[in-house]
Order: sequence, then C-alpha cells, then structure tokens
Amino acid sequence: MRVSRRAVAVRVEGIVQGVGFRPFVYGLATRLGLAGVVGNDERGVFIEVEGGSAPVEEFLAALAGDPPPLAVIERISTRPAAVTGRGTFVIAPSTACGDRRALVSPDVATCDACLRELTDPADRRHGYAFTNCTGCGPRFTIVRDVPYDRANTTMTGFRMCADCAGEYHDPADRRFHAQPVCCPACGPRLRFVGSGSAGDPAGDPLARAVRLLRAGGVLAVKGLGGYHLAALATDEPAVAALRSRKHREDKPFAVMAGDLDEARRLCVVDPAEERLLTGPARPVVLLRRLPDASAALSVAPSVAPGNRWLGVLLPYTPLHHLLLRALGGPTVLTSGNVSDEPIAYRDEDAVERLGGIADAFLTHDRPIHIRTDDSVVRVFRGRDLPIRRSRGYVPHPLALARAAPRPVLACGAELKHTFCLVKDDRAFVSHHIGDLENYETLRSFTEGVEHFRRLFDITPEVVAHDLHPEYLSTKWALDQDADLVGVQHHHAHIASCLADNGAAGPVAGVAFDGLGYGTDGTLWGGEFLVADLAGFERVGHLAPVPMPGGATAIRQPWRMAAAYLDLAYDGDVPEDLDVVRRNAGRWAAVVALARRGGNAPPTSSMGRLFDAVAAVAGVRDAISYEGQAAVEFEQLADPAVDEAYPCDLAGTGTRFTVPGVALVRAVAEDLRARVPRDVVAARFHNAVARVVADGCALIRQARGLSTVALSGGVFQNLLLLGRAVTLLEERGFTVLTHHRVPPNDGGVSLGQAAVAAALDRA
Ligand code: ZN
Ligand code: ZN
Ligand code: FE
Repeated sequence: MRVSRRAVAVRVEGIVQGVGFRPFVYGLATRLGLAGVVGNDERGVFIEVEGGSAPVEEFLAALAGDPPPLAVIERISTRPAAVTGRGTFVIAPSTACGDRRALVSPDVATCDACLRELTDPADRRHGYAFTNCTGCGPRFTIVRDVPYDRANTTMTGFRMCADCAGEYHDPADRRFHAQPVCCPACGPRLRFVGSGSAGDPAGDPLARAVRLLRAGGVLAVKGLGGYHLAALATDEPAVAALRSRKHREDKPFAVMAGDLDEARRLCVVDPAEERLLTGPARPVVLLRRLPDASAALSVAPSVAPGNRWLGVLLPYTPLHHLLLRALGGPTVLTSGNVSDEPIAYRDEDAVERLGGIADAFLTHDRPIHIRTDDSVVRVFRGRDLPIRRSRGYVPHPLALARAAPRPVLACGAELKHTFCLVKDDRAFVSHHIGDLENYETLRSFTEGVEHFRRLFDITPEVVAHDLHPEYLSTKWALDQDADLVGVQHHHAHIASCLADNGAAGPVAGVAFDGLGYGTDGTLWGGEFLVADLAGFERVGHLAPVPMPGGATAIRQPWRMAAAYLDLAYDGDVPEDLDVVRRNAGRWAAVVALARRGGNAPPTSSMGRLFDAVAAVAGVRDAISYEGQAAVEFEQLADPAVDEAYPCDLAGTGTRFTVPGVALVRAVAEDLRARVPRDVVAARFHNAVARVVADGCALIRQARGLSTVALSGGVFQNLLLLGRAVTLLEERGFTVLTHHRVPPNDGGVSLGQAAVAAALDRA
C-alpha cells in the first residue's frame, strides 16, 4: 500500500525561544513519526516536517493548540515544501543572520519541577541557588544580544560540565537547549562578603546570610535585575536601621513572604491576587493588610508606617526560596539603592553604593546585563492594575490595534520613566528606568534604547517626546535625527489608556495627575479631553490655582492648602483651622507669594488639589515621596460613607471648569464643624468621582461620546477609581482603565508611541 507523503515548512513567531519550544516540537514530531528539522533563527522558530498527511495535520493542530506554558505564539505561517524522503527529525544549530524578530522572554519565576529538585536531597541540584530549566529562570536580565543562545547571555563565561551538557543536548530532557543550564559543578556560585564580625570567615554563604539576618543585620542580596536590601520583616530595630541608612523616611517597603500561606497570615489575598502572587512574573502585589489583632503574623511598624496596604511578593529565584526557607519568616526586600537613585546591579558599583547600608553581601558571579526593578501591581475588580511594569513583564511586546507605518521611538516623560519602541503592530515598552532627573538615569535610558534597538532590530524613523522643555527625555529627543513628534502629556495618558485597551477613540478622556506641560505653557493635571489617538481637544479642566514656590509646593502640600484656602475664603481664611495654626509662622508669606504670582505658576492639577485637601485635613504638611499625601488621604477615608460635597461644573460640554476651591471650602467647613476626618476624606473622594461622571455627562451631551478613558497617576487611587467607574457605569458609560501599563507616567511612552503612529498613518 502506498502512503501519500506530504512536507510542510512552518514558521512560528512570538516568544518561542528559551521556553522549551524546540524540544516540544521535537517530541511532538517524533511521537507522530514525522521526519524533518526544527531550529531557532532571528525571527523565531522554523520547522520542516514530512510524513503522512494525517500526522502532519495532527502536528500542525498540536503546535497551535498545546504549546509549552511559557510560549506566546503570535503567528504561525505554513507553506508546502518539497518531499525529500528523509527519515529522522533533528534539531538544527542556531544561525546568526537575517532579521531579528525573535522575541526575548521576560525573566520567569522558578518552576515547580526545579523547586522539587532544589529541595530533594538526592538531586544533584539540591540546594543549588541557580537551578533553572526551559520553563523558568533568568532571561531578559542576562541577554546581551539575539539570537537567544548561551553565547549571547551573561552565562557565556560558565562552561557546562558533562552532566549539564548531556541534559542540554538530550531532546527528551527538561533542560534541552535551556541556555542558562548549570549545576553546582559548573555554574555560578554564591559568595558571602561581610565584615569580620558577621559570622565565621568561612562556611556556607547562605547559612552566614541567614545568621546575619536573624541577628538583626541588613543584607544586600544580588537578585535577577539588581541588588535588593533585606532585613527581617518582624524585627523593628533592623527595619528601622535599614530605613535610616537608606534615607527612606516613610515610603513603604515590600515584603517577601516564603509562600502563599505566609502571605495570607499577613494580608487578605483574593483569587486574582493569588494568581498574580504565584504566577510566572511574580510582581510585588499590593494587598490589604489584616488588622494587627486578627493577623497571625505582623510585620514591624517601620515596614509600611501607617499603611493599610502591604506590598508582598513571593520568591522568584532559587536563591530566594533557599533564603526564605532557612529564615522561616518574611523579609523586607527593597531595591538596593539610596533614596531615589537607580537600583544597583553591577557588583563593584553595588559594593560602593550599598556598602554604607548593608552589613554584608550575599552575591554571586553571574553578571546582570540590564537593571530591572521588581514590578508592582494592584488588583482592581479582578484585573491587573499595573503600578510599575518591569521585571517579569518586560520585554514582552504589547500588541497594537493598528500597525505603525514607520518604526517609532517614544521617549517618555520624567518620573517613573519608561521608553517605548514600536515596529509594525508591536510596542516594546521598556523596563522602569526611574526618575529621569540625573546623569545616571539618563544613561540608563540611552543605553536601554540602544539595547532594545539591537534586540528587536528596530531603527526608529519617528521620535515622539513630551512637550515639557525641561525634561531630559525631551532634550535628548530634540537632538535625534528623525521625524519629531511632540505629544501633549495628558493626550499621551489618554492615548496610553486607549492603546492599553486596543481602542482608538474618540473618547471622553479624563487625565488626572500631578503635573504635565500644557499646550498653553502652563502646568495641567485635572483635564477632560475629547481625544482619539491622532489628536485631542481640551474641553474641561480644574480651575487653575497658583502653586506658591513652584516645585517647593509639590514637596509641601500645606502651600497648596494656603493657596486654595485663600481663594476659597476670599482672603479671609478662618484662623481656627488646624492647618493655619500649624503653619502660622510661614502662612502669610506663602499666601502673599500665591497672590503676587511670579514664583507661583498656576496649575489645573488634580494631584495638587488632593495635596491641598490632605493638608487641610491634617494628613501631612510635607511629603517624603511622590504622592504621599494623597496615598495617606485615600487610606483615611471611610469607605462606608456615600455622601459627597457638591461641586457644580461651570460651562458646557465644549468648555467647562471644575471649581476645586468649592471642594476645599466644603472640607474646611466640615472640619471646623468637627466632622470626623475619615468622613471628610470619603466625602471628598466621592465628590471627585462625581466630578468625573458629571464632566463626562456634559461631554456626552455636547459630543455624543459614551466611552470614557481614565488615566493619570491620580487613578492609582482605588477608592476614587472604584467610585468613578461605578458612577459612570450607572450612567451608561463604557469605561476604559489600565490593565497592561500603569496609569501613571510609566505608561506615557506607550501613549506617545500610539499618537506618533496614528499621526504617521494620517
Ligand atoms: Zn524550571
Ligand atoms: Zn553542570
Ligand atoms: Fe502624568
């Protein structure tokens, strides 16, 4: 009987390298009795299979339907090929030519199989801190170039031993072509570097590190994307020492819990949060703390002072698993830096910069190629609301609804900086660069751009930038030899939310944030826009109020309170208000500054209104990290309160203003009447949510738009976001919020890129 043979050439694109794809293809083909070849190249994976018609069909179906868990297939294309009559299936060695469309995977948390080996005394990788396989391990942080092969990673200096080489070359093995494969005999090694008093001069580095932590010390630990600083989370003196040495006054620390059970002893974990905590990306998840009385475990007060939320993450490297198991309790794990500097990731630099903070170092000899901070995510209505998108997510591309005609580089904003490269319909949003305010972060930005350009073979022809002339990202962009596109900051926020949702608009866009440069040269931040990707119209905004002292007013919210109260009471502010009493000695001068103008630029910022109200309510007069007053004010609010202060919008759906002074006056009057502060905070949040809904209703009347996009850092406030979305939905609006990139300025680069691409299509 003659069996008809058939041959097909297949190309698979997406995240298909470094995730066990070739072994999967090999196993599938040999199981089905097919001959052929599979290999990696710069575009992804290529396959040729031949054999009977039915098994070839089955092969193609399984390829798409049942890929390895970490693979993300974007495209499979097939074409008929010539039957050669070959008899076996082989894996081809990698080549290094052609274009570079293969995608580098984000770093992946230790898988269950590797975890079992780690804890199995009979396994040759028992207790080995660098165990990994095709299903897990370092990726983006160790890749220097494509294609993704060991020679192009920071593992190139480690020569595989015979056992590891055997696994690497065995198509049936879990480590087949796992580029960072290694073992205690051939791979990276831990090293403990400490002062003489920190334990024995010799001995197991891990045991010494654990002893140091148990004794109340601060330990610098080399992780995937940089160094962390660790201290026992239950040890108040240790955490307080870390805080003071790091010059971090109040900003909460993240805590690594040993496992999900331990996380549940500290916080409430709902199913969506559990999925995030235990998933392959392992971000810091902001969880609701259990009240101390009902918590089975409580962290030291200095971990997250006065905060109802706690950032929790679970171990994501074998080293973390080993450390946490040996420690037997949660540990603070915060980025290895002083105050707001970028996280240290090069060994020499880390010793220099962290030497004054850490009592000892737990380090190793596998270099980190690119600095990558932990990601931070909240859950809003069962879906991710990213606060910082970095390790575990980057460089996975975001699909755009429509392709860009020419490659785009979007340079981002300033704080929480990211950049974004776009080619065709893929947007590569960078890791978190930090606050782009100095030479070191600027260098991280420019080196990052070069790295992404090389990895994804993108030569930008269009460069998008913010309009703020003083942003370093703007200045750098203006020096580039490309077509430049200036994108207004709040338009970029709304475009970011559109791109995040695969939408194009037009929408009623509500962009509430700290500050962004407006087209009229003033500082905006409480904006209602009618926008699509290509353009926008500013139809409504918060009525501008002077910012006495400019940037100083950002660090001293009481100054915004003074400016707002002076307007709210027409120059006759009641002296019985606590905020006036607390700042009596300096009040008059700041009010005079606000009235005079000069160094008191007017702003329509919603962030500044939150600051003003928080100061009036006695939350705080000065802050030590961005958004602190608003964060604490949100937590103060009693969620059971439904009333809201009245706030009538002045104007029509094509031009209106929001009288923030009316809200400040209402807050002040309530406080003078001794209304509890938690009620006041709730009434204010509810009022701002109504302002959002009322503004959108005006826009719908004038323009017929019934879809709303909410963006800007103010919408990290879950109380406000929840109330605003509820009100809008009650009134029949479709509401777009962020799920893939942050609503804060970390998402601005995606918005800039989407705008530039849309303008390039026009
Ligand atoms: Zn693994
Ligand atoms: Zn080995
Ligand atoms: Fe912003």
